[in-house]
Amino acid sequence: MRRVTVYDSMDREVRAFAPRTPPRVGLFVCGLTPYDEAHIGHARTFVFFDVVARALTRWGYRVFSVQNVTNLDDKLIDRAAESDEDPLVLADRHFLTWRIAAERLGIRSVNYYPYATDYTPEILTQIEALVHRGFAYPSAGSVYFEVAKFPGYGKLSGQRTEALRPGARVEVDPAKRSPEDFVIWKAATPGEPSWESPWGPGRPGWHVEDTAITLRLLGARYDIHGAGLDLIFPHHESEIALAEAATGESPLVNYWMHAGLLTMKGEKMSKSLGNVYALSTALDEFGPMVLRFFYLNAQYRSPLEFVRGKSLEESREAYATLALPAHRIAEIVERDGPERAGEPLPDDLASEAESLVDRLDETLAEDFNTREAIALLFGWSRRLGALLERLADYDGDALAELGAPYDWGREVLGLFERVGEGRAGAWAKLVPVAIAARARARARGDFAEADRIRDELLGAGIRLEDHAAGSRWSFARTD
Ligand SMILES: [Zn+2]
Repeated sequence: MRRVTVYDSMDREVRAFAPRTPPRVGLFVCGLTPYDEAHIGHARTFVFFDVVARALTRWGYRVFSVQNVTNLDDKLIDRAAESDEDPLVLADRHFLTWRIAAERLGIRSVNYYPYATDYTPEILTQIEALVHRGFAYPSAGSVYFEVAKFPGYGKLSGQRTEALRPGARVEVDPAKRSPEDFVIWKAATPGEPSWESPWGPGRPGWHVEDTAITLRLLGARYDIHGAGLDLIFPHHESEIALAEAATGESPLVNYWMHAGLLTMKGEKMSKSLGNVYALSTALDEFGPMVLRFFYLNAQYRSPLEFVRGKSLEESREAYATLALPAHRIAEIVERDGPERAGEPLPDDLASEAESLVDRLDETLAEDFNTREAIALLFGWSRRLGALLERLADYDGDALAELGAPYDWGREVLGLFERVGEGRAGAWAKLVPVAIAARARARARGDFAEADRIRDELLGAGIRLEDHAAGSRWSFARTD
């Protein structure tokens, strides 16, 4: 397995990556609270961790990737009340929209998307353990975590409490022993979803939902916890406190990875600030490759400034340059097949391509430096730019060698995909059914029906070509 380094937000330094039980890697990423449509800020984080999982997999690790769905919280309840909807139904609806967008974006590394409300028994068990061990106390039908009982609180963020920050508005809650304590079980409010508990009906707080899920799926200690930078405090700080206090095991996580935020005019893109650009709109306007390129062509820990009318337009142009030789090679191979005749590749170019793939792996293995990897790919595209007209002279092996760095980019960065290709597995099963139906229509002389089937497939991104031996299909270029 390749040597990998990771910047750990806890130690604030780059460390060698050593999973607890190699080759297995447990990866947890805080998922969406689907109270509204996802925006392009959310997707930056999820695309980055998709690359982390893809890269580790390429390097021989076996990644189990979990992304929770916070399908019940205060924002969801407030939003649902506005539209007179069940909050759980509202969450389902927005989560489905997100999953479709994630599929379009090529995010396919997540093994499991657990819903918080499916873990109520685990949540109650954890809260009981915390009360039993003296870290939490019931009060007025709710249960609070007592921060003073966990001396390590603040070790990740360097921050102990929002309430004690100078100038912060302190909401006096008589149910709490101290203003820094936080609720882990909320007493039921009429009209809200609630569950029975030893402390009366109620619902879980946010932090405890995540730790209940990770304790169940990844164990008391696991390898990587990822999320956007804005979740360090209080969310991740509280996750550490809850899990370590409940289990007595430490550390909860070996590597804390935080992706920088997408900003507009320096401010975080967020629904509450009203400066959002919906992910589905961005996908419609620019396509998934341009978005992935925009995110990955930046250092992941830095803020990424998004300027409307500029950022994605520039990315589209740059990506087109980057991908041009990749698409040209793919076209030739698609047309003639991988065994095509032609000239072999000169040795120097072949070894250059091979060593580039090694360098790409090496570069990315240094704290997932996607920006540098893309810079290397740009170098290759410039190199091939001079050869564009000659590509069609090469044989199949030569083209495969020239295309190897792009294959790497496809596998690890999820770039250079043609839209729809990601669903190739499903298409491969469905398209032959349509082709057979079309062949039957032609056999009985119903050419109108045969043409209709061909046109419908084209509308779905599949191009048919009739050959003597039958019909061949390929993905029509839509990007
Ligand atoms: Zn979380």
